[in-house]
Amino acid sequence: MPTKTFLSRITGSFATSAAQNPTVAIMDAAFADAGLDVRYVNCEVPPERLADAVRGAIGMGWVGFNCSIPHKVAILEYLDELAPSAEIIGAVNCVVIKDGRLIGENTDGQGFVASLRQVADPAGQHVVVLGAGGAARAIAVETALAGALSITVVNRTPERGQALADLIDSRTPAAGRYLPWPPALHVPHGTGVLINATSIGFHPDESAMPDVDVDSMEPGMVVADVVANPPRTRFLAAAGDRGCTTLDGLGMLVNQALVGVRLWTGEDVSGAVMRGVLEDLFGA
Ligand code: NDP
Repeated sequence: MPTKTFLSRITGSFATSAAQNPTVAIMDAAFADAGLDVRYVNCEVPPERLADAVRGAIGMGWVGFNCSIPHKVAILEYLDELAPSAEIIGAVNCVVIKDGRLIGENTDGQGFVASLRQVADPAGQHVVVLGAGGAARAIAVETALAGALSITVVNRTPERGQALADLIDSRTPAAGRYLPWPPALHVPHGTGVLINATSIGFHPDESAMPDVDVDSMEPGMVVADVVANPPRTRFLAAAGDRGCTTLDGLGMLVNQALVGVRLWTGEDVSGAVMRGVLEDLFGA
């Protein structure tokens, strides 16, 4: 019988506010399911304590950590290395600690692409992204790097939308363009993937929906939502009624967690177990 050891691998999350972040619940369930002795610690870390938190993680031999709002850009100054897509996105939500060196990754976009691949190949697609914030930026860059032909960014604030379109155009092989958001946006003909990457529809504003002409969502189109709570947003329900293939925000959340676990531990854990926990929390 192998000798039992009492030293767990440790990872976690630095954010404020941290109390509503469900990641620890899905990590604990997946580690228990896989029989892995890894602990995920959800930490409340305000901006002025980020440096101490990072030093603490290195000092205690953590294998890495997630960083969420408001640290995704501030963390950059502590890193020794940046993954290529995180460098383009300009934000990091996952840090790997190897031999005391900090490597920054952005798993949000990777999680989205992994979720998308379960229903469609991003390569060769014309993609429309609603929104130009952090989630939209990660999704747009990663989908472009996965081989999408074009990324059309539709955003309420033109400057942010244009900046993301320019980033796609200049730093990825895909064509980037900005489209102002008119009332009842008509989704351009030929769009293969339409993504709501805004926060519209997030709990408790569940009756809200991005202003899109539902009739322009063509049957067969993949329609995705980043909003994970509730998983079945009004946007996705409307797309489903039109015969589109829908992808909810739980898929992105679970897949970015799986990518993080792989980066920290080299192990694959169960996405189904993670999804089950989230469905219990948010409703399926
Ligand atoms: P940001 O604040 O960075 O960006 C918000 C975006 O939504 C902006 O483009 C903003 O437009 C747009 N927006 C917000 N309200 C409206 C509105 N009423 N009308 C039009 N546009 C609007 O947020 P994030 O990108 O970090 O997060 C966006 C969503 O993604 C959140 O709901 C978050 O929970 C979710 N998310 C989900 C993840 C998952 O794994 N499922 C991972 C990460 C985020 P403007 O620029 O004009 O202000």
